Amino acid sequence: MSHLLPPQPALCLPDPAAEETLWSLRQRLQTLELAMGILAEGFWDWDLASGQVWRSPGFYRMLGYAAAAVPDTPQGFLLLIHPEDRERVAGLFAEFLQRGRGTCVAEFRCKRADGRYLWVEDEAFWVSDKASDQPMRVIGSLKDVHKRKLAELALRQKTLQLESLNLQLENLVRRRTRELERANAMLRSQLAEITRLSTRDSLTDIFNRRKLELVLADELEKSDQGFKPLSLLIVDIDHFKCINDQHGHPVGDQVLIGLTRWIAARMRQTDTFARWGGEEFILLLPRTEREEAVGLAERLRQGLAVEVFTQGIRLTVSMGVAQLRPGESAESLISRADQYLYAAKVSRNCSVSHP
Ligand code: GH3
Ligand code: MG
Ligand code: MG
Repeated sequence: MSHLLPPQPALCLPDPAAEETLWSLRQRLQTLELAMGILAEGFWDWDLASGQVWRSPGFYRMLGYAAAAVPDTPQGFLLLIHPEDRERVAGLFAEFLQRGRGTCVAEFRCKRADGRYLWVEDEAFWVSDKASDQPMRVIGSLKDVHKRKLAELALRQKTLQLESLNLQLENLVRRRTRELERANAMLRSQLAEITRLSTRDSLTDIFNRRKLELVLADELEKSDQGFKPLSLLIVDIDHFKCINDQHGHPVGDQVLIGLTRWIAARMRQTDTFARWGGEEFILLLPRTEREEAVGLAERLRQGLAVEVFTQGIRLTVSMGVAQLRPGESAESLISRADQYLYAAKVSRNCSVSHP
């Protein structure tokens, strides 16, 4: 700290008060020098007038240099800064100098005498002359923050890794969700197709016998709860074998399709229309009395008799119509309708029903 001592006067006059002040000042400087010697932190002092930088023993201990090994200029220290940090630190310091007041804190890697780099925190302050308020020197402290900085960097690295893993995980979840949604949609459509296949007739696409039996059982259960009229109509194409024989089986198929479309277009929403067997069909008519069902059968029969199907084919149908009796089973209802159909077949192109 001897550089801080005021210039010694050339001639010393015996002045007890001044001697006392000087002695006290020397004591304080000695204490300060001792304190600087034991401080672990580095301390530096840049005298703007001389351009020289004084550094404390702690500074050299921290970096492992002998005092003479580091030039006593700011530039001399700048060369110890890691090349990747140097420009940033120089920029910060230049801005601080330009400001002419306040403080400047920077963290950077500093080269030690053994060649390894140490993370340090350097904090600089302006010191101005009290009387003139003119900046005279810049002082600063250098702290070893190596452990804290390495922990911080490791934490940052871990955070980045976690963020990247998180992103990968989110992408994976998104991808899996999309795959699951696709698989679900496929399963739904397969289920819909299976349901369709299990309830529909493959040629005409109207309900099949199995579905008709289910609906009939359901309707019977409903009618048990509070009797509502339910009628059933069996339709059988007359001499259908002849159509096959004359035009071939594929044309017969087209006629079956045409006939089912024709009948389906004339049904109510609540009615169930199903293929019962080869060229036999059943219409289940809920809330329908026998007379009403017979009326429908007649309208269908007469309408079909004048309808022209593929290749100019015309046909007639015979029908049996029965209304459910209280307590009657599904088998019995169908059997009665079948008997009436059998009776209708005597003359064909007619419908038969009995109360
Ligand atoms: P009826 O007036 O006594 O009912 O005479 P029909 O010829 O209509 O009755 P029959 O029971 O003798 O013959 C029914 C015919 O229906 C025979 C069969 O080959 C035909 N058939 C049944 N299912 C199909 C089918 O899916 N496609 C075609 N093209 N023909 C069918
Ligand atoms: Mg038949
Ligand atoms: Mg027939």
